[in-house]
Amino acid sequence: MGKDSSDLFGALFDAPKLSRVVPVLVPLPVPEAYSYAVPDGMAVEPGSVVQVPLGPRQVIGVVWDGDEDLRLDPKKLRPITLAFDCPPLTRDMRAFIDWVASYTLSPPGLVARMAVRAPAALDPEPMVEALRYRGGEPERLTPARARVLDLTRDEMPWTRSGLAHAAGVSASVIDGLVKQGLFDTVFLPPPPVVARPDPDYTAPRIEGPQKQAASEIVENMQAGGFSASLIDGVTGSGKTEVYFEAIAEALRQGRQVLILLPEIALTASFLERFQDRFGAKPAEWHSDLSPRLREKVWRGVVTGEVRVVAGARSALFLPFEELGLIIVDEEHDPAYKQEDRVFYNARDMAVVRGRIGDFPVVLVSATPSVESQVNGQSGRYHMVHLPTRFGEAAMPDLHLVDMRRHPPDRGGFLSPVLLRAVKKTVENGHQALLFLNRRGYAPLTLCRVCGHRFQCPQCSSWLVEHRFKGQIQCHQCGYAEKTPEACPECGTFDHLVACGPGVERIAEEVERHFPDARTIVMSSDLLGGVKRMRLELEAIARGDADIVIGTQLVAKGHNFPLMTLVGIVDADLGLANGDPRAAERTFQLLSQVTGRAGRTGLKSHGLLQTYQPQHPVMQAIVSGDASAFYEREIGEREKALLPPFGRLASIIVSADSRADAEGHARGLRAAAPKVSGIAVLGPAEAPLALVRGRHRFRLLVHGRRNSDMQAYLRQMLAHGPKVRGSVHVQLDIDPQSFL
Ligand code: ADP
Ligand code: ZN
Repeated sequence: MGKDSSDLFGALFDAPKLSRVVPVLVPLPVPEAYSYAVPDGMAVEPGSVVQVPLGPRQVIGVVWDGDEDLRLDPKKLRPITLAFDCPPLTRDMRAFIDWVASYTLSPPGLVARMAVRAPAALDPEPMVEALRYRGGEPERLTPARARVLDLTRDEMPWTRSGLAHAAGVSASVIDGLVKQGLFDTVFLPPPPVVARPDPDYTAPRIEGPQKQAASEIVENMQAGGFSASLIDGVTGSGKTEVYFEAIAEALRQGRQVLILLPEIALTASFLERFQDRFGAKPAEWHSDLSPRLREKVWRGVVTGEVRVVAGARSALFLPFEELGLIIVDEEHDPAYKQEDRVFYNARDMAVVRGRIGDFPVVLVSATPSVESQVNGQSGRYHMVHLPTRFGEAAMPDLHLVDMRRHPPDRGGFLSPVLLRAVKKTVENGHQALLFLNRRGYAPLTLCRVCGHRFQCPQCSSWLVEHRFKGQIQCHQCGYAEKTPEACPECGTFDHLVACGPGVERIAEEVERHFPDARTIVMSSDLLGGVKRMRLELEAIARGDADIVIGTQLVAKGHNFPLMTLVGIVDADLGLANGDPRAAERTFQLLSQVTGRAGRTGLKSHGLLQTYQPQHPVMQAIVSGDASAFYEREIGEREKALLPPFGRLASIIVSADSRADAEGHARGLRAAAPKVSGIAVLGPAEAPLALVRGRHRFRLLVHGRRNSDMQAYLRQMLAHGPKVRGSVHVQLDIDPQSFL
């Protein structure tokens, strides 16, 4: 006994012995792991999540792979402060983090931080206090007391509040029984964050082409190992039902599943569908979760308690214990690209994660990206087609409205053709959706007298009027001011004019034409945030609105049974910018939006207002000949050696002063190695030349398909000017945005 206590006191009061050194990735933009000493008696291994001192702070880090550097003296290094009580990141997860860091040219510590970002989750959850019947009878048996005892005589433990609720009594009734010594206090493990989904909760209901598609994928899975499949099926063809069978197979194999969805916060109906099939909801992962819930989900994922996660792109970095399948729904969606700190495309990185973990990845879309189409055609991805809608539902009839021949009234944006169609739809008791991908009232406000335009003081963008809120706002940085009554330039009152439409302005026009119709405006800046948006979406699905005016928020995945008309207010909107993916994006977005119509078998229509009815995108959409569109688009990409036939990388240089940004960008250009097959374009001032007071210049690196862009960029940065002062250099491999 004496020996034990002296050891205990020794551990408490002597400095810990340090004999080992390990590399630890810390959340800093540095290229390598830092070395820390391991106190004797602390058990760490590669993947262990630890807390370490960093300057004056304590930070979360991850013990990394790599040999011990024998030249380092552990006594001269700072020791790890503590090792958290949670399973270490797996070898596959570590390999994935290293791969992403090297591909995106990001500091590995910043990539690792995306995997362990919920610090309080690292301690196990406290046990839950509960009551268990011990025996005996109360002094006086009231009806309330009898109800409590009826529930507890089998000696199953109950929480105090759970018991009060189940017995329909107040907590004081229970406290009275506890005082009389009828209950023991016991401690239970905390309840799981979600129940376990059961692959056989209901039988699959698929048949025909769906069944064929599902069995192809499941056979692939049973063969084991990595595979990538692409489910390419029109909106409403039942793709979700098909990939549910892949999920069931993974669950039967005892593996965890990740479902990536672009707008998970708004897809409550998806969670319910999942629950109907598997008897339990998946755990959700997105930015709108409470910190407490995030922690619980994170812990559940590492320990393996959570079997299925449905999440936004950041869920890809959750450290699953035994991940066995990733589904990427709406794989073409631009929301999968993160353009902040670590620039990555979750769709592409999901395939990488599957390859490293040796498990299947299933991409899903009604309008696959050109990249995935090409991978499908070349046989890299296993293609599965679902060419028709499920059941009675037919695709909507699509027509172009030539705005040159059917112009709207003065001051309006809706052509007589579209207005007539809306009128008929509402008269039939159905719903119409008017789609315009522009928030607010008007994209530009100017003074009629002096021509003054309202511009953001910190960005090179116009201020957008939001009439509901009485504000003009910058959509770049969020700057907002009260809509002024007088022009700040010339002082004239009441002469500000709105130029162009936003959804609020379309709503005004709709109300003028249909004063009795129930209208809803749906855009991401609704007061009330995600909660309000969910409620509004449910209201639309129930039929509580006649006319919906919305941005892309309503385009994705929703099922509105009564919707039989979709009107695209400005089909040309996305074609105007110089983005190489403009045609593809427009095609995808317009197909998705028109795909909201007629999902339950009602005859439906789509009308696209355009000034360019001959444009190949417009023609592809109305003819329904998607394959011709893809063929043409693929041909053009191939000719220009654009992705996936060539490679692109952007370098964005920003600084407080224009001269510093431009100077640094020129310096980088001068440092570009001369290599055949890779060319550097620019620098040029970015289309968004000023954001939050920072001036921006861009370089574009263009290489052949097989060129080593990463090596090239590393050399360029190493030989380029030193990053000084306010200068910041951001790399974007496979850029999606060129602004
Ligand atoms: P997609 O994901 O391709 O847009 P969904 O899977 O959402 O299509 O299916 C469209 C509609 O058809 C949904 O309402 C869905 O419930 C229904 N559906 C699809 N497949 C089946 C099936 N095999 N049995 C019954 N209903 C189905
Ligand atoms: Zn701004």
